[in-house]
Amino acid sequence: MFNTSVIELSPSALKNNLRFIRKRMRKGQRLCSVIKGNAYGHGFSDYIRMSIDLGVDYFGVHAADEAYRMMNSINGREIDVFIMGAVEKDAVEWAVENSIEFAVFDFCRMEEAVTAARKTGRKAKVHIEIETGMGRTGFEYRQLPELIDFLRKHENEIIFQGLFTHYAGAESQANHFRIVQQIEDFKQTLDFFALHQLKPVYHHTACSAVLLNYPNAPGNMVRVGILQYGFWPNKETHIRYYGERVNSPDLLRRIIKWKTEVMAVKEVKKGSFIGYGTSFLAHHNMKLAILPVGYSHGYSRNLSNVGSVLINGKIAPVVGTVNMNSLTVDITHAGEVNKGDEVVLIGKQRKKEITVGSFSEQSNQLNYEMLTRLPLHIPRLITE
Ligand SMILES: *Cc1c(COP(=O)(O)O)cnc(C)c1O
Repeated sequence: MFNTSVIELSPSALKNNLRFIRKRMRKGQRLCSVIKGNAYGHGFSDYIRMSIDLGVDYFGVHAADEAYRMMNSINGREIDVFIMGAVEKDAVEWAVENSIEFAVFDFCRMEEAVTAARKTGRKAKVHIEIETGMGRTGFEYRQLPELIDFLRKHENEIIFQGLFTHYAGAESQANHFRIVQQIEDFKQTLDFFALHQLKPVYHHTACSAVLLNYPNAPGNMVRVGILQYGFWPNKETHIRYYGERVNSPDLLRRIIKWKTEVMAVKEVKKGSFIGYGTSFLAHHNMKLAILPVGYSHGYSRNLSNVGSVLINGKIAPVVGTVNMNSLTVDITHAGEVNKGDEVVLIGKQRKKEITVGSFSEQSNQLNYEMLTRLPLHIPRLITE
């Protein structure tokens, strides 16, 4: 292989996770699959293809560039796309022209949507974002009357496709008072629009943590990201969901497996330092394997002397510092290891597993961050 590592994706794991998610959705709710950040690092085109095959027909991305990339990987299949965050000037016109739905959180973009609709002769499908307490983007209450007038005046240019908000950390009990307030505020906003005979096609508030922790949060659509990929939003949500069954088998399955091959094997004598500097001293005679993956491939330098990989179904700890393009592991207790043997960086090998959870805890990265740092250029392969 030309590349030093590959990422395998499992459609059967995705099927399992989608079933888990759909079971937790209320009747009449539509799933918008959130795939920002290169499908949380899994890789756009393969992940989208697997999802479409499993019946997903609505995708949420962060920005127009992601929507653009995704439109190029769907081969004209009938799906809906929603840009949840940034879409500016030229991109607005492109979005309107291609019937791509997008978030609007100020009058400036609302005007741009109208202009684009006039120019292209197509209506703009906008999702109006409401500021309910996240302190990020969204229209404020005092702006609602003006917004309602605007929508009325521009019925020929604007389709009121959605009304939404985003919660400020529904994965932690500590934020409960904020979430409850946000739910109330959102309901009032929805009522206010209804009072003026304006009803969005979709109203939506839930992300993964909300789906689990606040199953009754308002919405006829949910925007789910991390759960699809087989990860819990955080440890607290996992424990809260399982309660005392926390040690039972996980209901979610990881889609991703990241693997490489042994580049070289060597022996070192007791008393030698390994790698750059003096961070690891061999306390006994050791056998080592050198792997062609380093921090430039997304294997964090924080995993120096801390991380581990799987070889021969056995755990092989990282020794010394992770380099830019390589790392060294201790295979003294891993049986016979040869150049070219499979090495699992994330995922299962025989009975053992390296989870992103353990991996990211070791390197102080969140699941979300570690995944999205997996570089674009590592090839993705769909398995079973
Ligand atoms: C990322 C994102 C989501 C999905 O969040 P998860 O925690 O991964 O489910 C939902 N809504 C918005 C606006 C987002 O930016």
